[in-house]
Amino acid sequence: MQIAANYIRLREEIPDHVTIVLAAKTRSVEEIAEVIDAGATDLGENYVQETEQMHALLGEKVNKVRWHMIGHLQTNKINKAIGVFDVMQTIDSMTKAVALNRRVKRAERKPIPILIEINIGSEFTKAGIRPDEHEPFELYMERLVQEMSELSHIRIAGLMTMGPRFGDPEKSRPYFRRARNLFEQLAALGQPNVQMRYLSMGMTNAYKVAIEEGSNMIRVGTAIFGPRLCNRR
Ligand SMILES: *Cc1c(COP(=O)(O)O)cnc(C)c1O
Repeated sequence: MQIAANYIRLREEIPDHVTIVLAAKTRSVEEIAEVIDAGATDLGENYVQETEQMHALLGEKVNKVRWHMIGHLQTNKINKAIGVFDVMQTIDSMTKAVALNRRVKRAERKPIPILIEINIGSEFTKAGIRPDEHEPFELYMERLVQEMSELSHIRIAGLMTMGPRFGDPEKSRPYFRRARNLFEQLAALGQPNVQMRYLSMGMTNAYKVAIEEGSNMIRVGTAIFGPRLCNRR
């Protein structure tokens, strides 16, 4: 019951307004079932096929939580993805948003909440919209939000970012702060159809600093389930 205890401790430790999205990659169905029974509300998955398998094994427990896509969303997997996810956290271009919108509409589903993924540290190795490729970035993002908000079958619900991972979480602080400022700026636009509710940032290594800088949605795996074994990815 270590996993349940870890979840409950973390839930008590952080403010109530912060949503915990548990990163499920490489974890077994038993581990996920345990954390759902402990009261988890939100789960994050990186791959569509693994999520389908997890859902099949979890049975009725699936409906006790919201499922977030936190991995790279491939266009050819979107149809399957909209069958298993409640929130898409990794929309990182207008092209991707248009592709998602078209498929949600075609499937005659309700509009799906999305977060726009930004790569706040402009790192080569990470997904998300890079500030250094779209200067002035804040203006670029305002225009993108306005454009995306016109799509009828997606609903912008906030921003997601990985942020650079340093040994010292304090080094992440300025990046988190920039993401927070952008989040506020986009919220202040008051764009119809847009509800800037979630700022999804902070993983096991730096969630405390992320919350101090305004995150209201953290994504953690290791803190709850322990280290990932290399042979299981
Ligand atoms: C794995 C993962 C996390 C959680 O990482 P931990 O360091 O295990 O907390 C968060 N976000 C994304 C996108 C991930 O892939």
